[in-house]
Amino acid sequence: MKCPFCKHEEIVVLESRESEDNEVTRRRRECKRCQKRFTTYERVENISLKIVKKDDRMENYDRAKIKNGLLKACEKSNCSQEDIENIVDDIEMRLMARKTTQVSSSDIGRMILTRLKKLDPVAYLRFASVFLEFTDVQEFKAQIKELS
Ligand SMILES: [Zn+2]
Repeated sequence: MKCPFCKHEEIVVLESRESEDNEVTRRRRECKRCQKRFTTYERVENISLKIVKKDDRMENYDRAKIKNGLLKACEKSNCSQEDIENIVDDIEMRLMARKTTQVSSSDIGRMILTRLKKLDPVAYLRFASVFLEFTDVQEFKAQIKELS
């Protein structure tokens, strides 16, 4: 860690305190060079994201699964490997930023659809046909109409 004032790297911790709910640790620090004081907050990163499946089963979040779904949809389309990585990154970031630790698989499906729609109509329809098969056929028909 560097001092925010002088960028020096020797910092002393003067005091550590837990927040009331024990989720955040607050540390009062002092720079050894310029003696200025500053505060840092430390919290546990949310890594326990659970996916709630359509049949209510819970699964641990798995980046590879999202990516595989996208890869299948993007076969023979104009999406590049980089497009796919970008979509997964974007979705993952949004999921991690949520307060909740559970997200439904249909939420993720919808997030993928929104992004594919902008990117490539073929990949979008292919993903929609797999995804919406389990939800609503009418919705799928409406989507095709919208694209044509
Ligand atoms: Zn300093």
